[in-house]
Amino acid sequence: MHAYQAFINGDWVDAASGARFESEDPFTAKVWATLPRCGEEDVDRAVKAARAALERGPWAEMHPTARGALLRKFGDLIARDADQLALAEVRDNGKLWAEMRGQCGYLPQWFYYFGGLADKVEGAVLPIDKPDMFTYTRHEPVGVVAAITPWNSPLLLLTWKLAPALAAGCTLVIKPSEFTSASTLELMKLVKEAGFPPGVINVVTGFGPDCGAALTNHPGVDKIAFTGGEASGRMIAKGAADTFKRLTLELGGKSAQVIFEDANLENAVKGVVSGIFAATGQTCIAGSRVIIHESLHDAFVAQFTAMAKQARMGDPLDPDTQVGPVTTRPQFARILDCIGIAKSGGAKLVMGGTRATRPECGDGWFIEPTVFTHVTNEMEIAQTEVFGPVLSIITFRTEEDAWAMANDTPYGLAAGVWTQDQARMFRAAKKLRAGMIWTNCYRTVSYMSPFGGFKNSGQGRESGQAAIHEYLETKAVWMDY
Ligand code: NAD
Repeated sequence: MHAYQAFINGDWVDAASGARFESEDPFTAKVWATLPRCGEEDVDRAVKAARAALERGPWAEMHPTARGALLRKFGDLIARDADQLALAEVRDNGKLWAEMRGQCGYLPQWFYYFGGLADKVEGAVLPIDKPDMFTYTRHEPVGVVAAITPWNSPLLLLTWKLAPALAAGCTLVIKPSEFTSASTLELMKLVKEAGFPPGVINVVTGFGPDCGAALTNHPGVDKIAFTGGEASGRMIAKGAADTFKRLTLELGGKSAQVIFEDANLENAVKGVVSGIFAATGQTCIAGSRVIIHESLHDAFVAQFTAMAKQARMGDPLDPDTQVGPVTTRPQFARILDCIGIAKSGGAKLVMGGTRATRPECGDGWFIEPTVFTHVTNEMEIAQTEVFGPVLSIITFRTEEDAWAMANDTPYGLAAGVWTQDQARMFRAAKKLRAGMIWTNCYRTVSYMSPFGGFKNSGQGRESGQAAIHEYLETKAVWMDY
């Protein structure tokens, strides 16, 4: 059994109350680690440590070039220890070893990229319309950041906050999901070695309603960077309004994969398979609604189900496994509920729809890759975020109908478009109301490219140059000479 501690002001600590909670391995369905159940007192200590580091001492005084060097060193250490970080997330989350190894090898790029930006934040001298006035702008760190992450991709989604926030000169208190805190704490083992002063990066572990809420409501927090569900996001945004905390919200999705009659069908099938079954469908950008031209429907369903039936399920550590377990017990139950809702709503189940009882799945929380046809956009299964390996297939006749259906959800995170018509690709980019549009590809991300959603999928953007400004305030300075 692994016994983790929280990380406050550079020290490994237990909760002040001494309380702990357990984390389960989704492949074995057994407890593998315990963690401190932090509450208000621990959160208060962490926020005070972060504020002290922000306002005085070596971090507050550090030149941005030196800050950038620290970020790059951190990136090097992550590259060195990528296997250990990947292993913690495979055990805690059930993500595939092959995927995690690739991801941990890529994470350093965010620290190199934002490390490079740290000393390139420039103010401007304004050609002001007043006589004898000298007016300029300066950018300053927004302050103490509460970084709240979900269970589906803990290290990646933390990195998207940590790298730009540190580059901007902020300090952080991180609260990972109660289901998957281990990899975040493994990452903290590298913080001292990289040379970050105590208090710059802190981690409290615990549950959303007590530990998470204590953090987001704390008056010492200036900004909340949250990734998680829509309901939690709404609650946090309402709480943040009391003190006007700055907010970045990355929430849910119900992303469409629009397949036109001229698409390369083989490529589209592969793109949809990875878009919905990667990470067992537990990604905010899961392409969970296929909107396909009626002339291609039957051929698509035949090819898609043939390919999906070959997916190997089982031990996430086995490099040959293609679909792993669902990460949490409640999520496993929710996915089965959603499948029930789809059936009773009139959708036709053509594949899967049950718990996977293959011998290689053992006692783990596995769900068979599931496909519904005869779905219409009004059905609940076409509107609700399942966050599991469940695909809904809807048909269309005209291009205008396709855009309208793709946009007809409360979300606007991502969309995929499969066509060989270049003019249509540009029309797609204009017509689809989503933060990421993938054309003849799906689910690619980069430290250079903005990530975030329209509508109920959130506000603000992570990654890309502008992301550093999510962690900066702008000051206008006037001088009468
Ligand atoms: P969740 O909202 O239940 O939890 C996310 C985090 O918020 C956890 O750390 C949790 O403890 C904390 N939390 C919950 N209630 C809180 C409260 N009242 N105050 C403060 N903190 C609170 O989400 P989840 O189930 O962990 O994650 C799945 C969701 O995340 C899905 O909806 C998915 O679409 C979304 N997601 C979005 C993106 C994106 O970038 N848009 C990426 C990944 C996941």
